[in-house]
Amino acid sequence: MDRLIYLDNAATTPVKPEVLDAMLPYFTEKFGNPSSVYSFSAGNKEVIEANRQIIADSIGAKANEIYFTAGGSESDNWALKATAEAYKDKGKHIITTKIEHHAILHTCEYLEKQGFEITYLNVDENGMIMLDELLASIRPDTILISVMFANNEIGTIEPIREIGMIAKEHDILFHTDAVQAFTQVDIDVNAMNIDMLSASGHKINGPKGIGFMYIRNGLKLRSFIHGGAQERKRRAGTENVTGIVGLGAAVKLAMSNMAERTKKEILLRDYLIERVLKEVPYTRLNGHKETRLPNNANFCFRFIEGESLLIMLDMKGICASSGSACTSGSLDPSHVLLAIGLPHEIAHGSLRLTLSDATTKEDIDYVVESIKEIVDKLRKMSPLYEDFVKDK
Ligand SMILES: *Cc1c(COP(=O)(O)O)cnc(C)c1O
Repeated sequence: MDRLIYLDNAATTPVKPEVLDAMLPYFTEKFGNPSSVYSFSAGNKEVIEANRQIIADSIGAKANEIYFTAGGSESDNWALKATAEAYKDKGKHIITTKIEHHAILHTCEYLEKQGFEITYLNVDENGMIMLDELLASIRPDTILISVMFANNEIGTIEPIREIGMIAKEHDILFHTDAVQAFTQVDIDVNAMNIDMLSASGHKINGPKGIGFMYIRNGLKLRSFIHGGAQERKRRAGTENVTGIVGLGAAVKLAMSNMAERTKKEILLRDYLIERVLKEVPYTRLNGHKETRLPNNANFCFRFIEGESLLIMLDMKGICASSGSACTSGSLDPSHVLLAIGLPHEIAHGSLRLTLSDATTKEDIDYVVESIKEIVDKLRKMSPLYEDFVKDK
């Protein structure tokens, strides 16, 4: 295969060369355990704190509010389970949405078995939660609102500032899964009244297996991993020094080029969306038209199986996804597409394309031409499409 076009940056991203360069010495000559007393290792403690500061600055937090974890899933688990445990005497009601990542949804299912009550908010046809429904679902025993910053499948950005305001007015904690939004949109945990925030390294050109959780000072969350005194006794285990250095380098890089990178991605994304909607009949865009991630496009093609489309795109060297990497392999349509009101047969024909700063207009042109050809081919094999055309 002579061509590889990677348009699945919501699933994972490559480590940038400068990120790798920053990490390499910490695998070999600078291998010391940050907890050791001798000066050879003490340097690594300082390096961790310097990277903690870079990350804190990127979301307007204080350095001592950043806790390193193994990634987005761990941060999501920690936020929900620790809040549930710490605040259960105040109440056992949690509010989330129907379109969360499974790291949130499956943790909620677990908490339901532990006696917690979960309200799953609906979203409108664009994938936005409705603030009046959020307000109506608040009860005296509500302890937590967890709403993702931006959706990983359809890219819709939620009204985080408004949710934060509502949570604060009602004295309820607010957690957001910002894994997709982090370094793609501006985040300020104070202006947005965010109490806890999850993010991950490998979605922002950092390494896999490292992420962080922001926890506002003053929250009484307990340790998630018990053991040593690392991470202010809240997350035990010898620090993932290489991962932390890589995450810090990735954040520094992404924050420094965010404005130009996202501007370029938005132009290409809109070009892609415009061409697909214009040139492929019986197609819809999923997610909010404007309030969406700079790099996300998500379509449904009627009379098409998303999986067949993916396989044929793969044969043309195009990496794409039908939704989230976690649901592929199962025959159920995406819970997000069902939540925005799509019927099963349309939700099955979905395609998610997520761009990066390496994506070119040439790539997009090739991808659009490929989609046109494949969709046409697949529809010609579809009896449903045949009937549909006959009826017209
Ligand atoms: C990828 C992703 C996660 C999981 O992050 P990992 O670091 O892979 O565990 C959680 N939430 C969202 C929205 C994601 O896109």
